[in-house]
Amino acid sequence: MGVTKNDTVVLKNFINGEWVASNSRQTLDVPNPATNELLTKVPVSSKEDVNLAVTAAREAFNKWKNVPVPKRARILFKYHYLLTENHEELARLIVQENGKAYKEAYGEVQRGIECVEFASGAPTLMMGETLSGIAEDIDSEMFRYPLGVVGGITPFNFPMMVPLWMFPLAIACGNTFVLKPSERTPILANRLAELFMEAGAPKGVLNVVHGAHDVVNGLLEHKDIAAISFVGSQPVAKYVYERAAAEGKRVQALSGAKNHHIVMPDADMDKAVQHVLSSTFGSAGQRCMACSAVVVVGDNEPFVAALKKKADELIIGNGMEDEVLLTPVIRKEHREKALSYIEKGMQEGADLIRDGRREMEELPEGNFLGPTIFDHVTPEMTIAKDEIFAPVLSLLRANNLEEGLEFIRKSRYGNGATIYTNDAKSVRQFREEADAGMLGINVGVPATMAFFPFSGWKDSFYGDLHVNGKDGLNFYTRKKMITSRFEA
Ligand code: NAD
Repeated sequence: MGVTKNDTVVLKNFINGEWVASNSRQTLDVPNPATNELLTKVPVSSKEDVNLAVTAAREAFNKWKNVPVPKRARILFKYHYLLTENHEELARLIVQENGKAYKEAYGEVQRGIECVEFASGAPTLMMGETLSGIAEDIDSEMFRYPLGVVGGITPFNFPMMVPLWMFPLAIACGNTFVLKPSERTPILANRLAELFMEAGAPKGVLNVVHGAHDVVNGLLEHKDIAAISFVGSQPVAKYVYERAAAEGKRVQALSGAKNHHIVMPDADMDKAVQHVLSSTFGSAGQRCMACSAVVVVGDNEPFVAALKKKADELIIGNGMEDEVLLTPVIRKEHREKALSYIEKGMQEGADLIRDGRREMEELPEGNFLGPTIFDHVTPEMTIAKDEIFAPVLSLLRANNLEEGLEFIRKSRYGNGATIYTNDAKSVRQFREEADAGMLGINVGVPATMAFFPFSGWKDSFYGDLHVNGKDGLNFYTRKKMITSRFEA
């Protein structure tokens, strides 16, 4: 079996229904971000490992594509049951390898299960369209077919939800799958594969190859990979998008973010503070839908003072402890990068009104960084433009909603944006003019659910069809048109 506990066993790949050691001897440590205790080692697999997995997936595809859709869906139903049965164990594994709070991890498992729920509707989803009489005695029908072998490449911040955005729907549609999980959170992926086999999936339908760049490039180059689903940081998303497209593959690449929250003067301030805090500092700011820039409209000093006060009261610690909201970032190197952004913010003239560096000394074992807030940030500053992906918040000041919307327009990213207001006119203007794909009205994390597309814009997404919902279905299927003449 590929899941390890507190030992230094190297994780195995999962190929053709078997746990297989990688051909590569190179490994990376997988520590617990809250303690830096070694959990396991992950192999840095080679292109040879990728070839084995793609060959298995390709062979499995020849049979799997012909399995009747309701039978495929029944495996998804069973998978749903098994994931639900193991909900708490899966959440604990997420806390262990990713560091987020148990409550967040529990919610993540639920979000993943909902993707399986959606994919279980494959018989309805996969239905085509027909029109009798497109011309005299001629009818037209559209059928949906799978693409072949799909490659999935996933990030560290949602080790359960993001893989489940991909493989359940792809496989329910009749494709087979090779997953390359994040090398920083690889443990859960093996458990997901194990439960999928237990649900009755045939060998080779889902394969897992651990590793880093070589595995990614192996998937991008492989002639038998028909499509690539990618989620990760912006430079890698762009690279994957361009490279996979150049190889003639269908590709969807979900990328980085800088999500703005506009606080209007009429908003319920207590609720706005609460939503901003949990959106910014939950999961240590490592959510693609995290708030990282707040636009304070008008001279709203009470909001800023309340935000700072509540940030001071946040409970920081190991995600397994009760009441903890702010957990560690994924690696020490990642914290170093966040620290360099704090320096940069100060150099560029922003006011550091809450310095989270002080909490680093109180919790020396893990990769902790306390809540950090800069005020009077301008859109030109580096901390306003870049995705920091850590508990570092920028407050920008605006005189009115138009100025706030202009800040959002100026951002290269367009994953999400939120407004806090009770004014219908502001809501409508925000909805019509905010230049981002997932909007929240008094909602801190406006992430969409499995039956809607996860709909980032601008540099937050490269491709055409997003993950989830009908976009996901269209991404993982191709259409065949039949035109029939019925002459008397
Ligand atoms: P990452 O880009 O470092 O890694 C993502 C995947 O790409 C991993 O599997 C990794 O092994 C691989 N990879 C990394 N560098 C590579 C390279 N040079 N060549 C080939 N492959 C490479 O991202 P991460 O740090 O794991 O995840 C956080 C990022 O993901 C953030 O930017 C976040 O906004 C983004 N994200 C976006 C969404 C979304 O829906 N838009 C969702 C979750 C995360």
